[in-house]
Amino acid sequence: MNSKIWLSSPHMGGKEQQYINKAFETNWIAPLGPNVTGFEKDLESYLGMNSHATALSSGTAAIHIALILLGIGPNDEVICQSKTFAASANPITYLGAKPVFVDSETETWNISPELLEKAIKDRIAKNKKPKAIITVHLYGMPYLVADIHKIASDYEIPIIEDSAEALGSSFSNQKCGTFGFISVLSFNGNKIITTSGGGAIITKDKSLNERALFLATQARDNAAEYHHSTIGYNYRMSNVLAGIGRGQMKVLDERVQQRRSNYQTYHDQLNFIDKIAFLNEPPNYKSNRWLTCFLLDSEKTREGLRIYLEKLNIESRPLWKPMHLQPIYKNSPAYTNGVSSDLFKRGLCIPSGSNLTEDEINRVILAIKMYFRV
Ligand SMILES: *Cc1c(COP(=O)(O)O)cnc(C)c1O
Repeated sequence: MNSKIWLSSPHMGGKEQQYINKAFETNWIAPLGPNVTGFEKDLESYLGMNSHATALSSGTAAIHIALILLGIGPNDEVICQSKTFAASANPITYLGAKPVFVDSETETWNISPELLEKAIKDRIAKNKKPKAIITVHLYGMPYLVADIHKIASDYEIPIIEDSAEALGSSFSNQKCGTFGFISVLSFNGNKIITTSGGGAIITKDKSLNERALFLATQARDNAAEYHHSTIGYNYRMSNVLAGIGRGQMKVLDERVQQRRSNYQTYHDQLNFIDKIAFLNEPPNYKSNRWLTCFLLDSEKTREGLRIYLEKLNIESRPLWKPMHLQPIYKNSPAYTNGVSSDLFKRGLCIPSGSNLTEDEINRVILAIKMYFRV
């Protein structure tokens, strides 16, 4: 049996252990320390735009804190892109607030501007103006940034930009992770760079950044004794793990290049197959191509191909199942147009790691060609 080819596995750059060793030598084995500060500085200078970063234990924690910073509480409504990973929406529920899901468009597979505006108008008519909008750059492809942010600003609703999959992507030369009033990154093991587990909250507002840090470190007031006037969270990133992040930042551009090159190879070799359709970058869009995905002609072909690859020890995965189709959110309001459920039925993500060898990529390409007998 051939060795397993994974969808997206961690890819160390080589400098990570030096930073980890430093943490051990100096005994900074804690959820604070020089690696955490250094990693935050690295993120800030990479993103630019006067970004302030707070490194946290996960991307999910970052979304939770972002919602708290916006004052979201019980029974408030928050609009969320339906086509996403559950972590985009679950923190809304942690707070007793209500998600309202909005379907996708076909250009980037992300939140549809038309449906977003329709949802906002309808919620306002029902006297439930949404308190925030969570947008997502799926698989690294930026959403329709200009249209979405225009609508949000017309209705004065802040955007939480879930950029968990899009570090290294950009729109009009501005990096993803800098568009939201608050933005969120993830460094989970399968993301474009990783700290094994981790996340960050990004904002241009210095006082918001200070507030995020305060909430993520148990909301301890400025007093010698442990004094608390707010409920806090233990969400900071460990100084050991931030060491991995520092090493990973040194190779981020390379990782983006490698993933884009994977996409290009797959595209060049497979685009001629009638039943496969890739998602091109619209003008001014740059995707980090975190995962290479394509659409098949039907759910039957998608599932047939997925199982065929599995038998050859090649991991592949359907596109995210929309939140409005999930049992946990079956009673949530949803503004739908059929796009995200169609993408879910016909879409497949194939191995996309930056550490894939040429042989492995050729194995995937050959397997897909064999499945279609071309
Ligand atoms: C990975 C991911 C998250 C959550 O990040 P974690 O660090 O795993 O908690 C949130 N949103 C999206 C779209 C993701 O892909």
